[in-house]
Amino acid sequence: MRNMIALRNFIGNARAVEILKRAIQQDRVPHAMIFAGPAGIGKCTLAILVAQRLNCLSPIENEACDRCSACTRIRAVIESRNLQCLSLKSGFCGSCPNCRIRTKCHPDIRLIEPEKTTIGIGQVREMINEIMFQPLEAKFRVVILDPAEQMRAEAHNSLLKTLEEPPSRTIIILVTTNPYILLETIRSRSRLLQFGEIPQDQIVQRLIDGGKPADEARLAATLSGGSLAAAIAFNSQEYREAREKALHFLELILNKGGFSEASSIAAEITKDKQIFRLWTDSAEALLQDIYYASTAPERIGQLDLIHRLQQLAGAVPRSFVVSVIDAVRKLKSELQLNVNRQIALEAMFLRLGSVK
Ligand SMILES: [Zn+2]
Ligand SMILES: [Zn+2]
Repeated sequence: MRNMIALRNFIGNARAVEILKRAIQQDRVPHAMIFAGPAGIGKCTLAILVAQRLNCLSPIENEACDRCSACTRIRAVIESRNLQCLSLKSGFCGSCPNCRIRTKCHPDIRLIEPEKTTIGIGQVREMINEIMFQPLEAKFRVVILDPAEQMRAEAHNSLLKTLEEPPSRTIIILVTTNPYILLETIRSRSRLLQFGEIPQDQIVQRLIDGGKPADEARLAATLSGGSLAAAIAFNSQEYREAREKALHFLELILNKGGFSEASSIAAEITKDKQIFRLWTDSAEALLQDIYYASTAPERIGQLDLIHRLQQLAGAVPRSFVVSVIDAVRKLKSELQLNVNRQIALEAMFLRLGSVK
């Protein structure tokens, strides 16, 4: 499992990365930083890369080597993230493959994540007690709280005291999607680094470099919402299956007269929440492409389906395509409000029925 990257290959957010690199080179890394930005763009990974760069035993051209004993044990910190013990239901046995990764973690690099849903006062106190002492072996101890906004109020307060009197050779990195949920006093004592979404073409390139075929990479990137993690985790098989169902459904609806068959397909899909969501997402993306097929073909995203999309676009008035897009969007917003799926879907059919 070797998927780490060097700071120089970190994709997206070049400005923030540059600021960090410069701070490391000038030996002026702030003792507290907030990495803020959308989920899945690699903020925690970047925090680990910073820890490696600060502690690598044999850096090469200003980059961590990712091979020395410090680098590999720092990498294990992120690799052991979310790893459950394979033999115990709770706790750690210390000897299964997952536990072995955990035991390889660097002692001075800590990733603090929510237990269940929040980062509790106990977790923060334990960390604070630990950082009163000098690091065991690291040049710089790095503590990462991710996601920091999940900290309970008391945890916020005790962290604040630490930030007021920062221990030496310790860097605290708060990772968050929304820095404004953190206490104002914590924000004012930390250096805020704002991250943005990763441009789609950079995600595509990264996936291709990682061995994904180009068309798969493009599809995953299109649907990732600027998140590299989402693009990497994207399951194209599952998506294609949902998409095929959605396209069949749209063919029935758009070609008129297929309402009853369409509604029985839909009734089947509503049974599973996850599948239903995937299905509505793909229906929307397909409709968008059908619309483009008659207006701006160069913007079609799902080129592998271009013939079927063009056929539909040619057979159906554009105004009706627009009505169906509206109906699907309305359906999606109702789902976000937790309206019952079956009822929301029936309402959509009623709306469409009145259009024709
Ligand atoms: Zn190294
Ligand atoms: Zn275990």
